[in-house]
Amino acid sequence: MLNLSEIFYSLQGESTFAGLPCLFVRLAGCNLDCSYCDTGYARSPVAGEMVSVAEIVARLAGYQVSLVEITGGEPLLQPEVAGLVDKLLDLNFTVLLETNGSLSIAGIDPGVFFIIDVKTPGSKVATGFNVANLTLLQPHHQLKFVMVDEADFFWSLDFLTQHKAEIGQLETIFSPVVSSFAPARLAELMLEHQVNARLQLQLHTRLWPDCDRGR
Ligand code: SF4
Repeated sequence: MLNLSEIFYSLQGESTFAGLPCLFVRLAGCNLDCSYCDTGYARSPVAGEMVSVAEIVARLAGYQVSLVEITGGEPLLQPEVAGLVDKLLDLNFTVLLETNGSLSIAGIDPGVFFIIDVKTPGSKVATGFNVANLTLLQPHHQLKFVMVDEADFFWSLDFLTQHKAEIGQLETIFSPVVSSFAPARLAELMLEHQVNARLQLQLHTRLWPDCDRGR
């Protein structure tokens, strides 16, 4: 059984899949407490309902879309997420799995498109990154740095330099917390320092700024 917060259909707001119609399976419970968390309603493990993999798949079957993202909360807290990934891949879904980077991705089919957060100091939870995951990365996986301020930008550059051998040409996303870090300033810094990363603004928060869930 999995602790499910919500299932919804929307446009993918992040990653290289941004803009595409996507089903979201949001699991409940998280082991972190990021300063900028916008899904507080899914952080508590008592926020969800216990459902089986079969029930989740049945709920997804009503939609004509083949892209699905498993997110949270932190999905890797629930061991049965591996079975959900396997089932969705068997059904030919393109599966994205967004994780906060603190837990091991071992044991999950690497065919999934991992979007792995690297928490910066501005998140207030930066010490939790599971460095061993860097040895398990595959070319289609993606790393995401959410930046609260310029200090986070320079911290991220240092991280990329330090782990250049493991990260290689992996898709890397720089995403500013727009309430404290102007996107244009981040863009200037990326150009000035010739950063080989993708600047990304959360599409869903720009389309639906007043909607805090289901988008
Ligand atoms: S990892 Fe995600 S869900 Fe958990 S506290 Fe951070 S932003 Fe919120």
